[in-house]
Amino acid sequence: MEKRRCDECESTYFATRSEMLNLCPECAHQLYGYENCKHTFKDGRCTKCYWDGSTSEYLKTRPNNKAKLMKLPLGIKKVSVLCILQSGEQFLLLKRKNPPNQGLYTPVGGKLDPFETPLQAALRETKEETGIELDDMTFCGILTETSPTKYNWICYTYLAEIPYQEAPPCDEGTLEWIAFDVLSELPTPKTDWHIYDYSSRGQSFIFEAEYDADLQLLKMKELLLNQDLLIQ
Ligand SMILES: [Zn+2]
Ligand SMILES: [Zn+2]
Repeated sequence: MEKRRCDECESTYFATRSEMLNLCPECAHQLYGYENCKHTFKDGRCTKCYWDGSTSEYLKTRPNNKAKLMKLPLGIKKVSVLCILQSGEQFLLLKRKNPPNQGLYTPVGGKLDPFETPLQAALRETKEETGIELDDMTFCGILTETSPTKYNWICYTYLAEIPYQEAPPCDEGTLEWIAFDVLSELPTPKTDWHIYDYSSRGQSFIFEAEYDADLQLLKMKELLLNQDLLIQ
């Protein structure tokens, strides 16, 4: 395989493994955001791209270059997934210890990683937050949330029926099994009851929720059936 030398870190790398002519996949990623190699190191070199782990002074001292790449203008919608894990009438919900929705019960989930499909993100988040490995989940619908603050989301919702098991530990808070009929007595995001209601009836949805600056839900609509929804 043809090898080249990286202009930035000076490591040799396999030419076909990089998106850029004169940079290894690592430096092309760090500097220009190209997809990185998923390095696997053996004897000091990546077996896939041949990078030797070198870095340059410039890359070492450049502050927060990841944060810079990821930073979005205020109010731009971020894409996330919600993973509803259901066993009969019960949902495995997370009492969140971190924002957003701190202190509320929500399904597990999170933001899409670069280059991920929504389903891949749902399977990954489920594994990361509950340890449960699934091959597939059922797509239920989409929730878009709009507010005049940074809280702006497009959220793909998936559901999986899983066998009952003891609620696993989770870094993001406490996982608990919650029965559908006690959901309304617990603190949850105001949008979520509709999500559980539609998804457990097998009814697809596109919800549009609008909030004020204090993140009070002003209105919520389901677009496929063009219905305004009641907000409790
Ligand atoms: Zn390099
Ligand atoms: Zn590599």
